Amino acid sequence: MIRDNIFKVRNLVSEACARVGRDPGGVTVVAVTKTRTLREVEEALEAGISDIGENRVQEAVLKYRQFLGVRHNAPAAPGDINWHLIGHLQTNKVKEAVAIFGLIHSVDSLRLAQKIDREAGRIKKIQKILLEVNISEETSKYGFAAGELNNSIKGLSGLSNIRVCGLMTVAPITDNPERSRGYFKALKELRDNIDALGLTDCRPGILSMGMTGDFEVAIEEGADMVRLGRAIFEG
Ligand SMILES: *Cc1c(COP(=O)(O)O)cnc(C)c1O
Repeated sequence: MIRDNIFKVRNLVSEACARVGRDPGGVTVVAVTKTRTLREVEEALEAGISDIGENRVQEAVLKYRQFLGVRHNAPAAPGDINWHLIGHLQTNKVKEAVAIFGLIHSVDSLRLAQKIDREAGRIKKIQKILLEVNISEETSKYGFAAGELNNSIKGLSGLSNIRVCGLMTVAPITDNPERSRGYFKALKELRDNIDALGLTDCRPGILSMGMTGDFEVAIEEGADMVRLGRAIFEG
């Protein structure tokens, strides 16, 4: 089932790219493995997934250790997998997060970025991060307000152990993907703006947007990374 789902997802990604003249190779599918078993994760890896996303540090560390233990002759070692943190990061978990994640999508405050910078410095790592933007301005959501983003990024400029690689957002849950389109457009506009101002370290900056309910629309609007849980593991 997981293999078939991934096949279907890849087709939908290609079709969405074709509609807007994009190269499907430019879209990374991050398989969101929160709550999934090690066996399920392995199945996804065997079907060609190379990027996995977790929303809780504790769960990710456990899986990472299990991979270290189990996967010595498996197709991919933990180091061959790109680990993405996509959920809110508490400052007391930063040390563990920096130890395993290649990209932290969910940096939502200056304080958190500073802490990540310190912990990365300690292990001589340059930690790649995305800044989470609360583009829909829901009070329940984490993330920088769109209006404060540029100033916040300027506040990060002295931090030499992080690389600001782009922006991430979580659109409001809806059963109509078209409702997300405006939010995705807005995130891309913010990204284009910070690129033009030369504010970040990676240009063009990465856009992490789109989940199972709306990833095709996200790709049409320029997503470089889509984060898919149910589309891959359920069905
Ligand atoms: C769970 C989660 C996803 C995946 O959601 P699906 O709807 O299952 O694709 C993506 N992004 C974040 C931040 C998540 O927490």
